[in-house]
Formats: sequence, structure tokens, C-alpha cells
Amino acid sequence: MSNQARPLPTHTQMEQFSIANDQLVINGIPLKQLAARVGQTPFYAYDRQLLRMRVEQLRKALPTSIKLHYAMKANPLPAVVGFMAGLVDGIDVASAGELKIALDAGAPVQEISFAGPGKRQTELEQAVAAGVLINIESFREVRELASIAKKLALAARVAVRVNPDFELKGSGMKMGGGPKQFGVDAECIPELLSEISKANLQFEGFHLFAGSQNLKAESICEAQQKSYQLALDLAKHTPSPVKFLNLGGGFGIPYFPGERPLELDAIGDNLEQLASRAKAEMPEAHIVIELGRYLVGEAGIYVTQVVDRKISRGQTFLVVDGGLNHHLSASGNFGQVIRKNYPVAIGNKMNAGNREIASVVGPLCTPLDLLADKMELSVAQPGDYVVIFQSGAYGASASPQRFLGHPEVTEVLV
Ligand SMILES: *Cc1c(COP(=O)(O)O)cnc(C)c1O
Repeated sequence: MSNQARPLPTHTQMEQFSIANDQLVINGIPLKQLAARVGQTPFYAYDRQLLRMRVEQLRKALPTSIKLHYAMKANPLPAVVGFMAGLVDGIDVASAGELKIALDAGAPVQEISFAGPGKRQTELEQAVAAGVLINIESFREVRELASIAKKLALAARVAVRVNPDFELKGSGMKMGGGPKQFGVDAECIPELLSEISKANLQFEGFHLFAGSQNLKAESICEAQQKSYQLALDLAKHTPSPVKFLNLGGGFGIPYFPGERPLELDAIGDNLEQLASRAKAEMPEAHIVIELGRYLVGEAGIYVTQVVDRKISRGQTFLVVDGGLNHHLSASGNFGQVIRKNYPVAIGNKMNAGNREIASVVGPLCTPLDLLADKMELSVAQPGDYVVIFQSGAYGASASPQRFLGHPEVTEVLV
């Protein structure tokens, strides 16, 4: 195509990384050098500097009294969890496996909370023994915890996860409102609280999580207000004062063309109001926000190398050495309704003038293994690096690595 240098695609999500000598730079290290250091492609790289900056931005925008938790299912790499544990106030885990990583990372047990439907008896026992806060999601969990607390002669710290009677508007994935497997329906909470009281569990608060991947500040504010109000109404029935009020998160990041970053200021103002109401209405309560992808998503890239370049009936295909087996989300098969391209670039030809329309596909024998569908990219040859941005969350751990038996991806914190 044209030999003229064209400006880079103006995806805001690429701007956080710098470019030197035509190469993408990850926390000071040019891509080819990083690839040599890693010793293989494909790999994920997460940039410490970007992680730190993201938390700083958030702290600036949110009231200081708000506690910031990292929902580690977004990226459970132990090095990442360890690094995040030093930046945020707490870690939210969703399995005993995640709990182990959070404990190994040195996160304070007081500020670890454990949510998720179907917590097994052994998981609950591990959580009680660890001394973390358990977000109760069923009547069964109350009974299990009562007998575990007795057996271990330890207090079971609990909060109640409420399935609210509203939904998070505009969220990519709804996790509250209507019939759900998460939490206990709001209308059943008074009864649940009375069971908790009878069972002698140590009640500490409420957890409300309405949904995920939301880019509309207004909807997030509305959900926070409604969650606060619901918690306040339910607080009349609690056996002891509310100490933790986890209002969820759902902060999204822009993945696709046309999407704009979330406006934090409005959310900060809204939380300021709620925090000041809480001071009067639930004086012992700390408001907690739990975020996954917003904290880590934009700090990560997935790097593959071109194995083959093929033209099929006029269409160019770059076949790379990893695909949906490592990065299901970028292939569009992790909950997206309509498949769209993540931001992609040729990482060692960031400014190259020669550009073309190409599709990036992985090595798997399935048409689902598509990482970029007819995108404008620098002209790439075997050996060049294809980089997928916005890949710090729901990457390796959310992908079917054994599907088709290709080598596993590796992950580095840079
Ligand atoms: C998945 C999940 C999160 C994190 O969601 P993100 O979209 O990554 O921010 C937070 N809280 C709960 C309860 C979750 O299940």
C-alpha cells in the first residue's frame, strides 16, 4: 500500500506505552530486548510503572477514605498480586487458590475478602483459618461456617453479598439484579442476617457487585447510590454495626474503536457524597471499591511472533505463534456479544510507513482463533512481533491453554 508514513492509530489505550527506534517500550525496555530476556514468544508483559500510575490516578480522583481493593481474578499472576498488594488496601479473592496467592503476597488478612458462589466446605475452612472476610452468598454457607467456627474455635468473619433488586446499566457483564447465582436476594437478607446472628458469626458488612466493564460514569454512580441506599435499609437488621461496605466496582477500560475512558471525577464526587452520608448514617463503615480490569488491564500486552504470512484470495493473514489458547478475550470468545478487534500493532515496526490491511490469526485449527480481523497494520514478515494491547486483565488465566496442545504462554512483570 502507501509508502508514506501515516500516524499511528489514535487508540488512547496505546498512548501509555512509549516508542523508541520504531519499537514499543515496556517500562524502559524495548520490545526486542524484552523478548530476548523472556526467552520465548508468546508472552504477556505487565508494566509496573503503569500499574503504579493507575493506582495513583485513582487515589487522586477518589476520596481518601475510600478503600481500594484489587479483585485478583483479573490477573492472578503472583508477581502482579504481590506488587498490587503494596499499592492497594486489600485483595478480593474468589477461590481458595486465589486466597493462597493473596496470603503469599503478604496482603493483610484483615483486608482480604472472599466472594463467589459455591464455596466448598474446605475452602470456607481455609478462609476461616486464615482470618479473612467471607462474603456469604447462601444460607448453606451460614450453616457450614457455624460448624467450622465451632470446630476450629475461631471467629468466622462474614459480610453478606446482596443480590440487589436493580441492575448496573450499560455494563458489559451483569452480575446483580434479577435471578442470579451470586449473593442472596435483597428481600431474603433480613432472614439471612437473623441466621448469621443465631450462628454467632462475626458480622462485618455488606458486599454489592452489580456488574463489570462499564464505561459510563453515570451508571456507575447510580449503582453506587442504589447500593448504598439498599445497604442502609438492610443495616436496620444487622446484628452489629456495618464496618465494611463494599459497593463493588465495574469500572471499564476502552477496548474498541470509539470507546472512551471512564470519567473518574464524577465517580469521585459521588463517592465523596456517599462517604459523608456514611459518616452520619453508618459511622463505623468503611466504603470499599473493588476493581479488577481497571487496575491492571491497560498495563499489559500480549506479544506473539509472526510464523507465517499467507495471502488467501487477496486477503493477507499473519499467522502468529499464539492465539485464543492464551488470549481468549482478544479472540472475542470471552463474553463478547459481537466480535471486535482489540488494539493491535506490529511492536517492532511501530512507525513503519508501509501499512496494509491484514488479519492476525493464531496457530489453532479453528476459525475462532482470530486476534485481529482485517486491521490496518504495518507490513509484517515472519519474525516480527504482533502486540495486543489492553491485555493485562482476563488474559492467560482466562484462556484454555491446553486446547490443541501448543506451548503455554509465559508472563512477566516488568
Ligand atoms: C470479577 C469481579 C470483580 C472484578 O471485575 P472487573 O470487571 O475486572 O473490575 C470484582 N468483584 C467481583 C465480585 C467479581 O466477581
